[in-house]
Amino acid sequence: AIPLVVAVSTSLAAKSGLLIRDRQAFEKARNLQAIIFDKTGTLTEGRFGVTDVVSLSGEENRTGEDNDRILSLAASLEASSEHPIATGILESAREKGLKIQPVEEFSAIPGKGIQGMVEGKKFFVVSPGYLEEKGITLKNEKIEEIKAQGKTVVFLLEGDKVLGAVALADIIRKESREAISRLKGMGIRCIMLTGDNRYVAAWVARELELDDYFAEVLPHEKAEKVKEVQAQYITGMVGDGVNDAPALAQADVGIAIGAGTDVAIETADIVLVKNDPRDVVYIIGLSRKTYSKMY
Ligand code: ADP
Ligand code: MG
Repeated sequence: AIPLVVAVSTSLAAKSGLLIRDRQAFEKARNLQAIIFDKTGTLTEGRFGVTDVVSLSGEENRTGEDNDRILSLAASLEASSEHPIATGILESAREKGLKIQPVEEFSAIPGKGIQGMVEGKKFFVVSPGYLEEKGITLKNEKIEEIKAQGKTVVFLLEGDKVLGAVALADIIRKESREAISRLKGMGIRCIMLTGDNRYVAAWVARELELDDYFAEVLPHEKAEKVKEVQAQYITGMVGDGVNDAPALAQADVGIAIGAGTDVAIETADIVLVKNDPRDVVYIIGLSRKTYSKMY
């Protein structure tokens, strides 16, 4: 039988928009020493808007048309992706009334980008990390400046030739700041995990005064990072994406943002229906109160 106090807490949590799917995880929540947050869609809104388009084709005509072609091609490829970056690029292209062309042989490169054929040519929209991996170096002042502003940058390539870059900005959830400062006040170490570039990660980490962060982490490495932190601390993980599911499963307590993917929600021990990271503070407090009454 479930002790009455636990039943009461569980229904209290549900009324506040927290679904406890695993009661043992709820009990463990009171002992958490570190919490790892996914960045995009968890600490941030996960709604990217395009802020800059940079032409890099090396040709003389750096006109609006050139930038429009970059955005139009990128949007054509992104039409087949569900990543928040894809949504941002598509919205921006549609607002500008740009042509979205059909794409053949589309495929995702997990944690790095996408690829596909447009008009019989092979294009990629990829991360800075992907360029590094392929040994493509770029020296462009404008892009360095944009990166330093903490924006997410993706590159449009035709074959191995970089045509341009699209910069996007997301916004930090207004509730994240309070959630982090309260968790730190409870003696819990706050860490961020992201596939995004190290400049964006550094910027968000600084804004939120996080204790630590891991950037440019590939989807299959996320659970490994959780394990690393678990070697030292009893660790919770908060995430929303398909990529986050193995990390949520690995953590001592896996918490999914309610607006996240079905995979993340099904894997999590606890679901934050209101998408509010402050509810992580609430659940730990409730767990502490509930179980201190019992032992
Ligand atoms: P996150 O940890 O922020 O959820 P992901 O692992 O989903 O990050 O993606 C990591 C990086 O891979 C992105 O910041 C981006 O550079 C690149 N990427 C992933 N999907 C796409 C896409 N559809 N279009 C362009 N770039 C992408
Ligand atoms: Mg995410």
